Formats: sequence, C-alpha cells, structure tokens
Amino acid sequence: MRTRNAVAKDYYGILGVNRDASDDEIKRAYRKLARQYHPDVNPDPEAHEKFKDINAAYEVLSDDQKRQIVDLGGDPLAPGGGGAGPGGPGAGPFVGFQDIMDAFFGAAGGASRGPRPRTRPGSDAILRLELDLNETAFGVEAPITVDTAVVCTTCSGAGTAAGTHLATCEACGGRGEVQSIQRTFLGQVVSSRPCTVCQGYGTVIPSPCPTCAGDGRVRTRRSLTVKIPAGVEDGMRIRLAQQGEVGPGGGTAGDLYVEIHERPHDVYSRKGDDLHCRVTVPMTAAALGTRLTIKTLDSEEPVDVKPGTQPGATLRLRARGVPHLRGTGRGDLYVHLDVRTPTKLDADQERILRDFAKTRGEEVAELSKQGGFFSRMRDAFNGHA
Ligand SMILES: [Zn+2]
Ligand SMILES: [Zn+2]
Repeated sequence: MRTRNAVAKDYYGILGVNRDASDDEIKRAYRKLARQYHPDVNPDPEAHEKFKDINAAYEVLSDDQKRQIVDLGGDPLAPGGGGAGPGGPGAGPFVGFQDIMDAFFGAAGGASRGPRPRTRPGSDAILRLELDLNETAFGVEAPITVDTAVVCTTCSGAGTAAGTHLATCEACGGRGEVQSIQRTFLGQVVSSRPCTVCQGYGTVIPSPCPTCAGDGRVRTRRSLTVKIPAGVEDGMRIRLAQQGEVGPGGGTAGDLYVEIHERPHDVYSRKGDDLHCRVTVPMTAAALGTRLTIKTLDSEEPVDVKPGTQPGATLRLRARGVPHLRGTGRGDLYVHLDVRTPTKLDADQERILRDFAKTRGEEVAELSKQGGFFSRMRDAFNGHA
C-alpha cells in the first residue's frame, strides 16, 4: 500500500455502519440514506453534498477491493490513493444508477453501469502440483505446464486487425447503454439497459484480429519453473504473481496459485513438521535391548532400543523431521516400536522359552491340554504383571 497522504474519509461513519458490517447491512444503510438525501427529494444544498458523500461511501464499501484499501487506512477515491486497477480512470462510473433506483423501488435485476471497459483484469488460475515428501521437505524447483490465456501477439491485446481501430457504437453513441424515460414520483427518471449492439462496450470492432477474434488474448500452454521452498505442506498454495489468465482486451494477468499435494510416503506419515514411522523389533531384542539403524529422510541414525522396551514405545529423533517453512530448525522423527512375538517355535525354542518362563515364575499351561486356559492364565499372571 502507499503511504497515506491525507486523512482518509470515514466511509463507515458516513453510512453509519460498523467496520464489520456485511454487504447487506451496507446496502440497506445506503438505500435508507439515499432515500433521505436524494436531491429530488431533499432540495437542501447540504443534502446534496451529503448525498454525494453517501454515494462515494457506498461506491467504496460495496467494492471488496476498495473496501480493503479503506480497511488498510487508505482512501481509494483520493487522487493517487491506490487501488485504481488496470482499468484505470473511468473504469466504472460512480455509484450505479441502478443502485439509486433500488433505493427507491427496491432491488431489480439488470444493473447498468455505462460503457464497460474492453480491457479488464484477468482471473486467477490454480494448478495442482503433486510432490513427494522429500520435495516438500527440502524444496524443489518443479517444472509445471500452465494452460492459460496470454496476450494475443498479433494485435498486442487490442483485438483489432492490423491497421484498423475501434469504432464508436452507433446504436448507443458510445455510451454502452440505451436509455428510456419513466415518469415517477421523483419526476422523470431515466433508466438504462446495456446496449446489445456493442454488448455495453460503447465501441465495436469493425475488423477483428484474425488470431484472437477480437478478444485480445489467446489460450496457450506455457512451461514454467516454480520454486518450492523447503517445508511446504499439503494444501498450501504458492502464488505466482501475474502468471494467471490474461484479461479480455489484454488486461493485466491474474495470479497463478500452485496448490501443493503431497503424495503419501511408504514409510513416514507427516503431522505438521513431525514425521512418524513404525519399526518392528523382535521380542528378544525388545527384552535385551539392541541398536537399530534408522533411515531418516536424509541420513541414517543409530538408535538404541533400551532393554525392557515395551510394545508401542516411541523413540524421538530430534530435528530429523521436516524443516520448518518459517524460521530455522526442523520437526522431529518419532519411531514407534512394534514388538514382534515369535509365531513359530521349534521344539528347542519352545523348551527354552518354557524354561525361561519357569525361572520367571510365569509358567503357563500348554495350550494343547486345554481346559480353562484363560482362567489359568489369569492366575498365572496375577502378581507378576
Ligand atoms: Zn489478436
Ligand atoms: Zn452500443
């Protein structure tokens, strides 16, 4: 935003609405005041000034972009106050005539805004980019192809064939709208509809550019490289300014948003900047302790499993997760240990385990002998848990 050069007008105060007023509240406040101060109703010269202020406030607050400028402390109607888009001066008339009509007769369809500019800003575009965890974690320069509208190079956006020019629409005399007169309690009221000959532009293209048929832009496929910073997350959007759709008449391009989609990883699941993985260790290793080598995203780390490790135990490897997108440092890697119980024991192994159980006072009934196994097991373990 620009620096504030003058005290911004209190547009909210003029309409008597709160700063968080909804579009509806703003419209209602405007209609009420417009009915009160319209020059046809209220001949007081002060009322005339007031009516102008009300219209200006409504023009600003009913337009999201202008309202945002106000909320940032600026004044979109001040000379050089920022916010004049690529449409430039004259991009829109003052408050639409229809809004004033609405103030008296209630909302009706078909708002009329005078000639509309042929050159208008383009819309934003969004593109989905699939990345692997290594790429979201450490960043990548990803090639992308974008299908968007770009400026027609034949006519440079003008829409006219070489050597020709726009012509004023004869049907509406360049106004972009045709008017009819109604008699109302306010006196004669002029209402208008967009001109159908020029679609409201006020101008016609006698010889359209053969490449773009007068639109000033053509669709094309472009290749770009987008720099993905380290630490991005699934669902985040990266904005590439003015890489979106070029507008009609070669208007300023909108932005391109690249939305990150992270492919699921075979080993790691991600929660924020932390990573989680599961490692299975044999029962004996869990009991006796062991040293594992854990593959992290970018290294191999020796990790000690302490003797007596229980199923579900978690080891935390600090700063082995995903680098933080903002600031320095990284998340952690959590290794969840699954303890595997042997499933097939040969005779020797079974004997050893039974002897082991005996030394622990944990004898169990042989399953083959059946009969109240669960109750006996409960008894056997009572007091040894
Ligand atoms: Zn063209
Ligand atoms: Zn026309």
